[in-house]
Amino acid sequence: MTPATDETIAELRDRTRGPVLEPCDAGYDDARRVWNAMVDREPAAVLRATGAADVMAAVDAAREHDLRFSVKGGGHHVSGAAVCDDGLVIDLSEMDAVRVDPRARTARVQAGATWGDVDHETQAFGLAVPGGQDPNIGVAGLTLGGGVGWLSPKYGLTCDNLRSADVVTADGELVHASETENPDLFWALRGGGGNFGVVTAFEYDLHEVGPEIFAGSLIYPLAKARGVARHYREFMADAPPEVRTLFGIMELPAASFYPEAVHNTRVAMIVAFYAGPPAEGREVLAPLREYGDPHMNSLRGRSYKSFQRAGESQGSVRTYLRSQYLPALSDEAVETIVAHAEDAPVPGATVFVSPRHGAEVEPPTDATAYPRRDAAHHLLIEARWSDPEQDEACVAWTREFHEAVAPYTTGDVAMNFLTEDEPERRRRAAYGDNYERLVEIKTEWDPENLFASNVNVEPR
Ligand SMILES: Cc1cc2nc3c(=O)[nH]c(=O)nc-3n(C[C@H](O)[C@H](O)[C@H](O)COP(=O)(O)OP(=O)(O)OC[C@H]3O[C@@H](n4cnc5c(N)ncnc54)[C@H](O)[C@@H]3O)c2cc1C
Repeated sequence: MTPATDETIAELRDRTRGPVLEPCDAGYDDARRVWNAMVDREPAAVLRATGAADVMAAVDAAREHDLRFSVKGGGHHVSGAAVCDDGLVIDLSEMDAVRVDPRARTARVQAGATWGDVDHETQAFGLAVPGGQDPNIGVAGLTLGGGVGWLSPKYGLTCDNLRSADVVTADGELVHASETENPDLFWALRGGGGNFGVVTAFEYDLHEVGPEIFAGSLIYPLAKARGVARHYREFMADAPPEVRTLFGIMELPAASFYPEAVHNTRVAMIVAFYAGPPAEGREVLAPLREYGDPHMNSLRGRSYKSFQRAGESQGSVRTYLRSQYLPALSDEAVETIVAHAEDAPVPGATVFVSPRHGAEVEPPTDATAYPRRDAAHHLLIEARWSDPEQDEACVAWTREFHEAVAPYTTGDVAMNFLTEDEPERRRRAAYGDNYERLVEIKTEWDPENLFASNVNVEPR
């Protein structure tokens, strides 16, 4: 694939309605920025697409001129594959409309919308679809990579709630994919990433949620982390699907909503959520509340929308991470996790273990492209920092932590949490046993591998 030239950019400008931004244009730097500040790519142009027609024109131009290009939804994938050097970025952020049909309990969402946009519109009707735990994440990347959120044990992964999608394919055509129309493509979109075309709109099933739910955090001294982890494990062993929790270790900022005793201090925590009436949630989560002697207990009835916003990320942050699955959280795994998390290089070095149960694990491996779901927990080791001088220490900590915990993991990985430098073995593991079928579908829909800036599935 080749860089974009002045002629191809001028030609694209003639064919599109949205602005085509070049480095000299206002807005270019915003448009090329992604969540991971380690990624600083300079595309020749960014098309701020206004609709499917712009996307079709851009895909046509890319194919005709053999242009390097990438597709940007919310720009939150840690790999930064949403942007490319010297090529064309199709930026969908202007395409953020959400239309809810409360009677049918469905939502039609343009592919540049964020989870904040979706929650805002759906919660106006007391409805929701399982989505990302940060309002700034794009619906597109998250859905195409599976997508897990607080509602997943009750209602499944985000991709399980997809009814249909509009997709611009490699030949520049707009097709509809659902269980009945282009079912192979529809299967591949649910976990197969951006390999098969540019999605311009998603249609989701919605569920009654809140608006008030029961949720919050329990914060403990770091010295109690091992006991807290075991308590999380035991509580989750027979928790109902309304419950989702996280066990984590992180440093808390000096924010007024935390007690002073934990300001700028590493702590162990359990974040818990109940997808049902608050009174019921209070009762079901009581064993969590009653454990130990937390510094802080913020479990209470609150709006689903505000809880979804609680984890809001700001701007861009240097980020490096590793994702893994644990078949079980053994005492040995707990020991390894806590020991490494205690020894963190920066305040933003965290580890989170989240359970997998209920509707999230019920579908068989081949139900969607999202692969095996049988591991009991997901493990996310993540460092966030701002000073480039700390790059080496943060990357080394994450990798060493990951290697140490490897004996207790399945070797699988969530595609939505895959850094760009991961080996081919791990990139394949993101698709597991579904890889061969994805290759077949890729060969049919994108035989020249036009859509390559992603966790790539190569056609035959
Ligand atoms: C702060 C933070 C919190 C997160 N929380 C969660 C969470 O709660 N649950 C969870 O499951 N994940 C979570 N993630 C991971 C998240 O799912 C991925 O980063 C996801 O890729 C983000 O989607 P995006 O549209 O913002 O990404 P982008 O970086 O824009 O896109 C990622 C890739 O998806 C493809 N793509 C994007 N849009 C399209 C499109 N319209 N058509 C075809 N291909 C497309 C492209 O290949 C692109 O490179 C989180 C990430 C961050 C940084």
